[in-house]
Amino acid sequence: MTSFLHPLLNEPPLSLNVDTLTQVLVNIDNVLIIQDLDGVCMGLVQDPLSRVMRRDYVEAAALFSPHFYVLTNGEHGGKRGVNHIVEQAFGYDSYLKRQGRYLPGLAAGGVQWQDSYGQITHPGVSDRELTFLKTVPARIEARLRQFFTHHPEVLTAAQLQDCIEAAVLDNIASPTANLNRFYAALRDRPPLYAKLQDEMQALMHHLLEAAQQQGLENSFFIHYAPNLGRDAQGLEIMRPATEHDSGTTDFQFMVRGAVKEAGVPALLNHYYALRTGRHPLGETFNARQAPHNLEELIDLVATSFDPLHMPVIIGVGDTVNSQVQADGSINRGGSDRNFLQLIQGIGQRLHKGNIVAYVDSSQGEVKNRRQVIVEPVADGSDRPGTVLQGPCDPADENDPLTIDLVFAGGHRQYTAVFEHAAQLRHRRQVNARRYQGMAPDYWGWIDGANTPS
Ligand SMILES: [Mg+2]
Repeated sequence: MTSFLHPLLNEPPLSLNVDTLTQVLVNIDNVLIIQDLDGVCMGLVQDPLSRVMRRDYVEAAALFSPHFYVLTNGEHGGKRGVNHIVEQAFGYDSYLKRQGRYLPGLAAGGVQWQDSYGQITHPGVSDRELTFLKTVPARIEARLRQFFTHHPEVLTAAQLQDCIEAAVLDNIASPTANLNRFYAALRDRPPLYAKLQDEMQALMHHLLEAAQQQGLENSFFIHYAPNLGRDAQGLEIMRPATEHDSGTTDFQFMVRGAVKEAGVPALLNHYYALRTGRHPLGETFNARQAPHNLEELIDLVATSFDPLHMPVIIGVGDTVNSQVQADGSINRGGSDRNFLQLIQGIGQRLHKGNIVAYVDSSQGEVKNRRQVIVEPVADGSDRPGTVLQGPCDPADENDPLTIDLVFAGGHRQYTAVFEHAAQLRHRRQVNARRYQGMAPDYWGWIDGANTPS
């Protein structure tokens, strides 16, 4: 491993010295945090409805405003959205609306914007596309019911109802069929589950055709999770069930261009407008207009944004992986990989010392990621040790993504550092203003945290 020191952190890659992040967050004014949600500020759980977030964390995020945005493939609103979790952390939601405590940023892979007052919009998604998306959950439910009318002996009416409720995710911008509960119910009948899987794939193809007939031929794509990579046309390949493996369980009907990395220039555009009064990419720029590869994305940022105002960007995620195959080829993936790599690339191009932080979420209920292995220091002190093995394949020696910091203690460690840094930064800013002789009433206003929308 190369052991160059990070320009701001003075640490080698995969450093466990997370206090250096606190230093950056407290002392650098023009800093921008772009952060994933699941596994980062809350644990990974089997049932998304049981996710929990700390109120202290939400308050800390507001203290960072306008230097903090989320970037997630999940959604803000709805029964399974993150707003619901934030509301639970507070007990009631009128306070949240009044005080602007919702987590601002982009969801649904960059096409769902929310401000800190919980106002949700879908930049770049047309009304016709939204209208079509709204019909998808009911079609999924109808197809599932129809399937079991041909197999009436398999599930009781109550079981079927239970499975359907768990399977039909009525996300606004990414309606989904999730077959986890069906897989559990049909575990002793793998061929029937495989048939159900085929049925869902057929439905997704049918939906694409139906959209095409309405003139929406370039609007949507199907995301299978997990999948078998992409075919020659760049389309994701469903992973068929086998005797002991569920294969693809999530069939997501997605808006084209809804990929996290495309959200980074959209967030920067918004951030610059707050600082300079001007949108470098235009007021109506949205993630769907972003180029599709990382080099072009870096070019776009480097040529459109005034380097004078470019923040130090901190990218935080928990889903990055790689696997070296028997034939020597390498599969690099994970839903956070590209946006983190983009943040790293922007930092390198513009000499900004951007920071890529990885939160190890492998201790949660969802067991589909490689655990970070840490060697403690030999003297038994509480100084940070060293990472023996990161989230990627140790045989993958030329990974273009460099992880700067590792939170081996998972979301608990990350949120503790985040909350602490928010307090220290806020105190420093308040003190600085006090010396400038400003009236206390202005503090919150200048902070942006309490700016009326
Ligand atoms: Mg995550």
